[in-house]
Amino acid sequence: MAKRKPIIAGNWKMHNLVSDSKKLTKELVNKLESSCKENLPEIVLCPPHTSLTAVADCLEHGGKMRLGAQTCDWRDSGAYTGEVSPLMLKDLCVEYVIIGHSERRTYFGETDERVNEKTKAVLKHEMIPIVCCGETLEQREQGITDTHVESQIKAALAGLSNNDIEKLVIAYEPIWAIGTGKTCDSEEANRVIKHIRSVVAKLSTEDISQKVRILYGGSVKPSTIDEQMAQSDIDGALVGGASLKSTDFYELIKGGSKKVCACK
Ligand code: PEP
Repeated sequence: MAKRKPIIAGNWKMHNLVSDSKKLTKELVNKLESSCKENLPEIVLCPPHTSLTAVADCLEHGGKMRLGAQTCDWRDSGAYTGEVSPLMLKDLCVEYVIIGHSERRTYFGETDERVNEKTKAVLKHEMIPIVCCGETLEQREQGITDTHVESQIKAALAGLSNNDIEKLVIAYEPIWAIGTGKTCDSEEANRVIKHIRSVVAKLSTEDISQKVRILYGGSVKPSTIDEQMAQSDIDGALVGGASLKSTDFYELIKGGSKKVCACK
């Protein structure tokens, strides 16, 4: 098995007041207290912007969990009412930023070009973009899943150096599986992820593509994680609903830990 450190990332979306965010983070810190850091996957919490500081305060520096954000602008500053810049996220100790989530693309008109600009901006500020791609049910039924994700990835990575591509995390999230309770068959998700890896290889090198972590997202839950993590090319999970309950998210972390141990 390839030695890519798995990532379990929680996308809290527009949920949790500051008090809820603190409670959830503290519960996870407690659950992880006795775990050995070396056996854990990378764990990333992506609260809403309003809770970033509170969550950062609950995470020990250099501890077992990292801070992520759900989106950002691509410019450093300016008269852009309501926007949050990558520089501002960096200032709050954010290490990962989800870019191009399907909900951003669908409800906020984020285009492939914008996803590319944001990806570059996040890398410029030495944070790691988690670049999302995935097909609608209609596209899957039309048999264009592979070409669709390929064009999304080519657009998102346009103009990036090999050095930058190597740092990226990609999340394959079939839109029909997000928040629906329907997960993509694990072998099929693995097949699409292998295809994404081959696209990354064409844009960089085979060696670099083998280092890029590619996650699966779409109704991941404790009952599905082991099968997903057992796949050769699924390097972790981007999780919505099941990241909001510490007991469920902890089970997913344990699923990621099994892969860490299997890869040693
Ligand atoms: C997501 O929002 O990225 C996601 C995968 O959500 P859920 O796990 O709820 O399907």
